[in-house]
Amino acid sequence: MEWDEFGQWGRRVADWAQDYRKTVGEHPVRARTEPGEILDALPATPPEQGEAMEGIFRDFEEIVMPGITHWQHPRFFAYFTSNAAAPSVLAEFLVSAIAPQCMLWQTSPAATEMETRMMDWLRQALDLPNEYQGVIQDSASSATLAAVLTMREKALNWQGNDQGLFGQRQLRVYCSSEVHTSIDRAIWVAGIGQQNLVRVPIKGDWRGMDPDALEAAIKADLEAGLQPAGLILCVGGTGTGATDPVDQCLDIAKKYNLYSHVDAAWAGSAMICPEFRHYWPGIDRADSIVFNPHKWLGVQFDCSAHFLRDPDDLVRTLAISPEYLKTHGKDGIINYSEWSVPLGRRFRALKIWFLIRTYGLEGLRERLRNHVAWSEQLHDRLAAEPDFEIVTRPMWSLWTFRFVPSSEGGTSVLYNPDELNQRLVDAINDDGRTYLTQTRVDGDLVIRFQAGQFDTTEEDVMMAFDVITEIARGLDI
Ligand SMILES: *Cc1c(COP(=O)(O)O)cnc(C)c1O
Repeated sequence: MEWDEFGQWGRRVADWAQDYRKTVGEHPVRARTEPGEILDALPATPPEQGEAMEGIFRDFEEIVMPGITHWQHPRFFAYFTSNAAAPSVLAEFLVSAIAPQCMLWQTSPAATEMETRMMDWLRQALDLPNEYQGVIQDSASSATLAAVLTMREKALNWQGNDQGLFGQRQLRVYCSSEVHTSIDRAIWVAGIGQQNLVRVPIKGDWRGMDPDALEAAIKADLEAGLQPAGLILCVGGTGTGATDPVDQCLDIAKKYNLYSHVDAAWAGSAMICPEFRHYWPGIDRADSIVFNPHKWLGVQFDCSAHFLRDPDDLVRTLAISPEYLKTHGKDGIINYSEWSVPLGRRFRALKIWFLIRTYGLEGLRERLRNHVAWSEQLHDRLAAEPDFEIVTRPMWSLWTFRFVPSSEGGTSVLYNPDELNQRLVDAINDDGRTYLTQTRVDGDLVIRFQAGQFDTTEEDVMMAFDVITEIARGLDI
């Protein structure tokens, strides 16, 4: 196929996509393939001769699609959603046709300047002060890595990149037990070492870091001659939505001169609604904040919004050319590749622009508010059932539960609750009407529920009640 046939195929793909997205709710959410099935369906050797698009497209439908888990299914309640609203998909289509590399301002001024503007729109949408500047990273993991490298370099007086970590002071970074594994990996990759990632105990309903324990840990490290370098806070953790007391923890970070990074990968999108901002009081003092518009907001994957109070620290850490330090941000020139670990960059801002203009912030807020309200409604219904127990309260639209049927007469419990709940989640996912995942809370296996799919409806969320209760009560105990 060459470009003169592209329009015809492009229209066919667009029609296919529209049809798929309108009917995605009719599929079982999780793919039903067995391991190896798709691999076996693909020829073991590459073709020597070119093939017609007709056959390629047919195989896409027949071989690939059965092996897809439908993340855009309106009853996808597993993990977190990875939304892709129609206007953002259109923008991605355009970007993949233009295919610009947006590493420097001059390699596509529109991409750089659109990125600057879109990050400022998002900043305003979250009501962050105007000192923050933003950059789009490919993932929250990358943003966290960039922040950890920055805290390392600051703490080592900018010597780490140059001299390596051999013979340097032992750095310490603090976080709670509830942070995402991307924090651990950033610590490994930055050469700080897992043993220097200090897990501060959590307390309270929000399962957030205990500020007194944080300060005690810092003091103990200072006495031991170690060097506290950074604090990583979690707002809306992956397992249960755990949220640290941002204000109190940042007080301590300031007192001990720690660089602070806030991981709000999922929950950050909800901060476009003023009523959810009580979850991060004092956020406007954090050095670095990341959230993923590609999760809940509706922007097609990948798109991670990284805000920095002082981008100079990040640029000083990651920019190769020292020259650049003198000009960055001046004369309208920003080279965003100096703000991230990878050099090459996609034109990601366009899909934010398409999305926000299509729905307006008010349209996006309405969706997020509905997700939270419907999720709470489902929570209340399940909480009222005697054989279910709520384990963690709703944080935005995420909460966890367990099936705890009492045995006949209510005396002894004859089943293993972890095993029973694992069987329940497996049975729910085999059923196909919905998709849920499990996590551990204080060692116990629990089932997570979160609502956030862009096109989900109240009816979709309520169907989860029927599916969960019906399947649970049908299990052999
Ligand atoms: C999803 C998630 C991440 C990882 O995001 P990526 O963009 O996939 O790297 C990190 N932290 C939290 C809290 C998350 O929910």
